[in-house]
Amino acid sequence: MKFTKITASIGPNCEDKKTLCNMIKAGVNICRLNFSHDTGDIQGAKIDMIRSVSKQLNTPVGIMVDIQGPKHRIGDFETEKHYPLKVGQKFILDDDPTPGNESRVYLPDLDVMRSLSVGDRILLNDGKIELLVDAVFDDKIETTVVRGDEIWSRRGFNLPDTEVNTDILTDKDKKDLEYAITKNPDFVAVSFVQRAEDIANVRDFITMRTSHPIKIIAKIERPNAVERICDIATAADGIMIARGDLAVEVPFEQVPAISRHIIRECRKLNRPVIMATQMLSSMVHSEFPTRAEISDVANAAYLRADSTMTSEETTIGDNPVNVIETMNKILSYSDKDTIENPYDWSRIDNIPENDWSRSVSSMAHLNKAVAIVVFARDTDTATQIACRRPDIPIIAVCSDDFIANQLCLLRGVFPICSNVLFGKRDAFESVRQFGITVGKLVIVDDDKISLRTID
Ligand code: PEP
Repeated sequence: MKFTKITASIGPNCEDKKTLCNMIKAGVNICRLNFSHDTGDIQGAKIDMIRSVSKQLNTPVGIMVDIQGPKHRIGDFETEKHYPLKVGQKFILDDDPTPGNESRVYLPDLDVMRSLSVGDRILLNDGKIELLVDAVFDDKIETTVVRGDEIWSRRGFNLPDTEVNTDILTDKDKKDLEYAITKNPDFVAVSFVQRAEDIANVRDFITMRTSHPIKIIAKIERPNAVERICDIATAADGIMIARGDLAVEVPFEQVPAISRHIIRECRKLNRPVIMATQMLSSMVHSEFPTRAEISDVANAAYLRADSTMTSEETTIGDNPVNVIETMNKILSYSDKDTIENPYDWSRIDNIPENDWSRSVSSMAHLNKAVAIVVFARDTDTATQIACRRPDIPIIAVCSDDFIANQLCLLRGVFPICSNVLFGKRDAFESVRQFGITVGKLVIVDDDKISLRTID
């Protein structure tokens, strides 16, 4: 029984029914569909397949739609060749849509042009090229190359120093989201969030189109989002630490400390948090993880993140099922580690002594309970208890698939969707399904908390 959940990115090497089925059996809790790649009906068919496999296995699985967001790209060059940019040379980004060359290229996004200031950095190609803005005009940005490499058409770029005044949802995102909403996903992950209003805008877009309570996950990959983590986490329903772009936008040595900070803030605010990107990268081709990767996954469990995440190791990896089995093994072992860690619930500041979820956890702890059973009308109660990180399972009995799927993200929460158990409030039968036959249970039903013994 692993407590830390696994979010698996789904792509070409794992989107057939058999592989998906084996991945879920091996421990996948959430399937992430990245709309930067496929869109529309192609993603829709994957959503249908995940739902059907989840039903067939009688295992709740959450579906997370990840929208591309305002990822900035330069325009095209005159030829397909790669153009070397040398340290010290001048380079111009302008509003001229004709193909670029070694001294200039088109910058399609006017909002970006208007947001840049002298001294801002422009990082191209995952940070391999660094340009420093020398001068800003209405129609062009003059820069000097500070770190050089080759550049070619339509490369993405990051602006670590710039507050970009752009709509969080691009036209592509709006189209993708319009479509995705019709498939009732459990979560929508929003890329390149900068402020709490971005989340409010996405929520408005969704609520104007559906009454389905889709959870919004804010991807933290910009320095200004790190600074505003409390506001963003409050506005969102969960956080993803998107270490890929984050390590381009902030000095990479800061990423572990930022991750710890984000996890801590999320726990104070009762928000689930996903540790993402390059966790088992070497397994794209290798059968075994590196020692450093094993430690990275274990560390996410020690820090008490809700979920780890796979990226290209499952989407384009040689053996996605082996990746999930490997991650499951590391998490299952590391979750059991009971060495006192500084992220223990009792040491988190700002959670009032009389907070009821803290009382549930202490009651369980003091009575050496074997499980907490929650009758979940919605996700709130289980979320709050999960954020106290009790070291026993939280069994969440619900009557709605949608709630069970959303609870899949929470550390230590094991959802059961059963109208019968929910209707009868049958805690004993619920825990028996998990192999628990003796011990004390803390039972949470609306605002009533009780202690019972199963023997
Ligand atoms: C990341 O940057 O770490 C990430 C998860 O986002 P994406 O895969 O969309 O680049």
